[in-house]
Amino acid sequence: MINMQSIIVPQISTYPAPEARARKVLAWLTAQQIVEEQLTTCGLSGNRMAYAITEGIRQVMDIPAGVALEDCLPLGRSVHGLEIVTQRCIFTPEKGFESRARCPKCRKQVGEVLIESLESWMPGETENFICPHCEHEDDINAFPFSQPCGFSNLGFIFNNSDGQYFKPSFLAEFAERLGLPISLVLVKF
Ligand SMILES: [Zn+2]
Repeated sequence: MINMQSIIVPQISTYPAPEARARKVLAWLTAQQIVEEQLTTCGLSGNRMAYAITEGIRQVMDIPAGVALEDCLPLGRSVHGLEIVTQRCIFTPEKGFESRARCPKCRKQVGEVLIESLESWMPGETENFICPHCEHEDDINAFPFSQPCGFSNLGFIFNNSDGQYFKPSFLAEFAERLGLPISLVLVKF
């Protein structure tokens, strides 16, 4: 069994009123019976409190025949919760992360410089990144990585659910409910 996380992150450093939005998204997910309404100890980090992911997750995934369900669904595993982050956090693929990002303007590689700049992004000194090649400046999320990453004060961590099989319609509705484009960060341990 593979341990993984699929993390949905709005493409903005500072999401306004992240707790209020998190509650709305949670209500939408519980209405579809994708997660339980109450926190239990089914997460991975900290005190492990998370919203248990339930059978309804199958409705929003398209798992091809031949793929082992236990490798892409959290059902029946000890870590099977949705964790919601509402403070500034760096979401990267961790294992096998190549740190490659391009400037959307001059197209040059900026990954490593951008990762270094997180030292000032993390404590909130800045939301932006400036391309060292052409000085193009934008929110740090506007510089796309070859493997999606997220930098935000809002993130939805689906433990042990393989996001590569999330239906495009589910991701589109998630983005609509956040009012912003999203990044889907796939983390494997
Ligand atoms: Zn540039």
